[in-house]
Amino acid sequence: MKMTYTIEQLKDYLKKHDIKPSTIRIKVLEYLLNNRIHPTADDIYQYLINEIPTLSKTSIYNTLDLFLEKGVVSTLSLKEKELRYDINTYLHGHFKCEVCGKVYDFPVTYKILDVNESKEFTIKSIDINAYGICKKCNEKINKEEK
Ligand SMILES: [Zn+2]
Ligand SMILES: [Zn+2]
Repeated sequence: MKMTYTIEQLKDYLKKHDIKPSTIRIKVLEYLLNNRIHPTADDIYQYLINEIPTLSKTSIYNTLDLFLEKGVVSTLSLKEKELRYDINTYLHGHFKCEVCGKVYDFPVTYKILDVNESKEFTIKSIDINAYGICKKCNEKINKEEK
């Protein structure tokens, strides 16, 4: 499902997060909203360099750092070398397919975590990661076995 956003909507999104809109910030935000693939900084760079030939990797990192600080994105805590970014900052789990490397979202409720009762901790973020084989890869493996 691809959604498109107007420049005005993207600007408002940034302003709501206390970020001054700039061309790069708008482009990075647009990419993150339209591509819910938990991209790395490099994924974003490789895509946007086609649109902005003068783009530097540093400016991508700076933009993502700012987005992180302002709560526009969160980072995934998967066992990976490169950080992945997520525009969906609500509580959800991540499933990483160990065959194709894709990362999928899955819903999580606070209830199962049994942390609401806790008065000892003030929880600011929770990471829930699962690893295995996705449906597509499972189907491929099953076909090959036949
Ligand atoms: Zn897979
Ligand atoms: Zn996610």
